[in-house]
Amino acid sequence: MKLMTIRGYRLSDVVSALQKAIRRGDARVAGYFAIEMFESGFTAYAWRRLLTVSAEDCAGVITQEVKALYDAWVIIDTAHKAAKVQKKKRGRVFLAKAVILLCLAKKSRDADHLTNLVYDPKALDEDVIDRALDEARRTSEPIPDYAYDCHTGLGRKRGKTRTDFLLDEYDALAPRAPGLFDADVEQLRAKVGAAPAGTSTLTRKFPSKSSSRIYTATAHSNGATSCDCPAWRYVKAGAKRGCAHTDTLLAELRRTK
Ligand SMILES: [Zn+2]
Repeated sequence: MKLMTIRGYRLSDVVSALQKAIRRGDARVAGYFAIEMFESGFTAYAWRRLLTVSAEDCAGVITQEVKALYDAWVIIDTAHKAAKVQKKKRGRVFLAKAVILLCLAKKSRDADHLTNLVYDPKALDEDVIDRALDEARRTSEPIPDYAYDCHTGLGRKRGKTRTDFLLDEYDALAPRAPGLFDADVEQLRAKVGAAPAGTSTLTRKFPSKSSSRIYTATAHSNGATSCDCPAWRYVKAGAKRGCAHTDTLLAELRRTK
């Protein structure tokens, strides 16, 4: 038996059209078919599709928005059914709103690609997987150095300040959306004389001699250098910042000048 909707469409066609229209950002078509499902009594099914679409086709955190609208619809629908005042179904505005948000959302098929391209067809080499498992068994992931900021005892011992924290974490954001207070951050940076982000002239990776870590040293256009190795970070008060890595960079820059 083919399930049909009130305007005479096959339910399976309606569901497919709904999801494809959302992928294309076509709110008019997607909304039409979502409401057709609602009016045909397939509301719960429509919500399940929208939740799936939010994970399968959309970037970022949109699932919780769709779930919140679904919860709101449940509240309205439950109260309406309990009151038994009129026959007409209520709460379709929540479904419409969910469709619009999904249409407007940035699209990404990453989650689907991860499950279907990476995991399912064994796109990863067996050797790669074995090596990763071996590595995981042998070593536990070390706590990254950036964890020790001014909010930790070790960070404070190393001289980490609240300004370091504000600048480091701001610069680390990836991808960084433009902020309302970016100018304030740059003012703070200028005030403490820190090297501006994104003005590096030379960056090199250096493997650690004593562990599996890789350090990143950078020479900035204003003459400052930075490195995430211990020698650069834990400088004695009053001493000049530098390490073997930044020395190598500076020597390289001098040669190329
Ligand atoms: Zn270094």
